[in-house]
Amino acid sequence: MLRLVELFNEEVIIVSIYSEEQILQMKEDDFSYHLHPTSSIPDMEAWGGPRIISEGEGVRVKSVEGKTYIDCGAGLWLNNVGTGRKEIVEAASKQMEKLHYFQSFNGYTHPLAIEVAKKFAKMVPVENARIFFTSGGSESNDSAYKLARLYFNLTGRPEKNQIICRTKAYHGVAYGATSATSLPGFWDGFRPLVPGFHHTDHPHCYFCAWGKEEGSCDYECAKAVEEKILEIGPEKVAGFSAEPVIGTGGAIVPPNGYYPRVREICNKYDVLLIADEVICGFGRTGKNFGIENWGVKPDLMMLAKGITSGYIPMGAVALTGKIYEPIKKHGIFMHGYTYTGHPVACAAALANLEIVEKENLVENARIKGEILRQKVRALDLPCIGEVRGIGMINGVQLVKNRETREKFAPSVGFAKRVSFLGWENGLILRPLIDDALQLSPSLIISETEIDELVEKLETSIKQAWEEYL
Ligand code: PLP
Repeated sequence: MLRLVELFNEEVIIVSIYSEEQILQMKEDDFSYHLHPTSSIPDMEAWGGPRIISEGEGVRVKSVEGKTYIDCGAGLWLNNVGTGRKEIVEAASKQMEKLHYFQSFNGYTHPLAIEVAKKFAKMVPVENARIFFTSGGSESNDSAYKLARLYFNLTGRPEKNQIICRTKAYHGVAYGATSATSLPGFWDGFRPLVPGFHHTDHPHCYFCAWGKEEGSCDYECAKAVEEKILEIGPEKVAGFSAEPVIGTGGAIVPPNGYYPRVREICNKYDVLLIADEVICGFGRTGKNFGIENWGVKPDLMMLAKGITSGYIPMGAVALTGKIYEPIKKHGIFMHGYTYTGHPVACAAALANLEIVEKENLVENARIKGEILRQKVRALDLPCIGEVRGIGMINGVQLVKNRETREKFAPSVGFAKRVSFLGWENGLILRPLIDDALQLSPSLIISETEIDELVEKLETSIKQAWEEYL
């Protein structure tokens, strides 16, 4: 049932395989039966229904109406290799035929879980790493906090069980991960949270909480971690957990000295450094892992998203030998998920990482990320404050006044408006916290596609700014 919808750019004919009636029915059914994660129900009502995406290729996706969009977020920061990669589909499908599932509990495993564990253990910057598999980022975070507490329990210091996180952190929505998160709305109505989670200020030079300038500061942002440890009492602190580059909180890159200082502080007080690499891991920052940009080795590392580029859910935790040894002595880790080490996810992971290696996508993230930032910086728009990022984690900070860095009043919803106009102009563009826009497309993006993205972004920001004035 092919339907001609509209003519676009004179050459491209947009067609949909769905009739208008089918689309209306889908929207109605969505309203009737579907509860969406973190989606504004009034917004979806105002749009006349959810935005329904039915297919994609490369860096683009297509709506049921037949219109194509450049996905500026690569799904939720995860689609590193792009949509439609036959190699992954074939690997997963072969594995599904051969052995679609077997458990890793009770002493069982399967060949691909062993292969993936070995591959990850050799890749991660974690000393004598062991790999524990999960099904996603929230599970990886909860598993890491449990491992941190278990380590101190098994080594005779059960009171060392508090976890320090940071403002603007997003670590997921399982209860531990929710408690570690610190973004507006994620705690409302869900209390009591898991006890023992604390938050300290995050580093962000553009809006420095200490009013300093990079280059002439004394890394007050890193000192804040030490102050928090001392406030709680070092004998009570098990770990400091952070995203190497803050994702959902605004794509915020720390100053270069931050993580080396934090590592020293963690060593000084015997506090585990816990790196949430769910977004950063497997190439997005232009290194295999985000924390490698600063030459630092964490004790625990949470992984997900880029493992399979989202072809199928999978997560993992890498733990140091130092944490594994007491568990080995104890004899059992009483924790695990049904889908831990899922064979089909392992097959997808191996095929996905093979593409990343063959196509040099880690290097591409570094090079194309820099090109993308330069092109956005070159836009002559007075409401673009900071264009920040590393590799393919980028944020465009929109401000009311570029000179003073004054933010828009939250009631304006400026980035949200740009994102709405982006949709009209052919972009899937997500507003992050505090009027920043997420620019984190797939790592395969070409320079021509970057040009198209930037042109559509410029149009969308310009339209929103003119409306605002
Ligand atoms: N950690 C970070 C840094 C994330 O960005 C996310 C998700 O966006 C999570 C954890 C949670 O992952 P999931 O949604 O797979 O549970």
